[in-house]
Amino acid sequence: MKIAIMGAMREEIDPILSTVEKYTSTEYAGNIFYECTYGGHELVIAYSKIGKVFSAITASVMLEHFKAQTLLFSGVAGGISKELKIGDLVMASALCQHDVDITAFGHPAGFIPEGTLMVEADAQLRSLASEVAVDMGIDLYEGIIATGDQFVASSERKEWIEKTFNADALEMEGASVGCVCQNFGVPFFVLRAISDTADGGASDDFDDFLKTSAQVSAKFILEMVKRLGH
Ligand code: SAH
Repeated sequence: MKIAIMGAMREEIDPILSTVEKYTSTEYAGNIFYECTYGGHELVIAYSKIGKVFSAITASVMLEHFKAQTLLFSGVAGGISKELKIGDLVMASALCQHDVDITAFGHPAGFIPEGTLMVEADAQLRSLASEVAVDMGIDLYEGIIATGDQFVASSERKEWIEKTFNADALEMEGASVGCVCQNFGVPFFVLRAISDTADGGASDDFDDFLKTSAQVSAKFILEMVKRLGH
């Protein structure tokens, strides 16, 4: 099977590229895509750059141009749930866009007419992840991830997102990637390791923990790849 693995930042895919060792690079649509084989699968790997627009472009290219049949996102996120500590892993059950606001017309926050408030991650990939977590002896948290074009570093904003969407973690790419995959009918999975807790100290924590948390997520994703059916 051809599997897309994407991150938003270089730090999120570096641990994957250094594990697979041998790959080719192709420039396409303003980005670089790395291809290799791993665990009996063909992989296409890329980081999109930060945010919903760049991540939607990269995901679309991976599906349409590189013909990926499933997409796994690996990266870091700000934790909302008090159960989530820095370095913990959370997989998205569903994702929403916390910065979509056409509430002036009576629509709920995050809702786009003819769309859905939440986009659900693939159930089979989530159950595979739960098995991998048990075997690796890792606590894998499952919850709603809220996406928006904002680095959230405020308790107020974080609490609003928690209250409005019942979200457990937040980041800047998951829902846009999920939306692309849903529209193309391709199963997807979003995994994030916590880098900060999206409050006053978020930018300092992010700088301190980006690399280690990104590695935790990448290692788990590669374990999933090895177990995916062909
Ligand atoms: N330090 C970077 C910017 C990081 S933006 C620079 O200067 O270039 C944060 C990235 O990590 C995004 O890709 C997002 O998906 C994720 N993320 C981690 N913590 C976050 C938070 N508190 N709010 C929003 N996104 C967060």
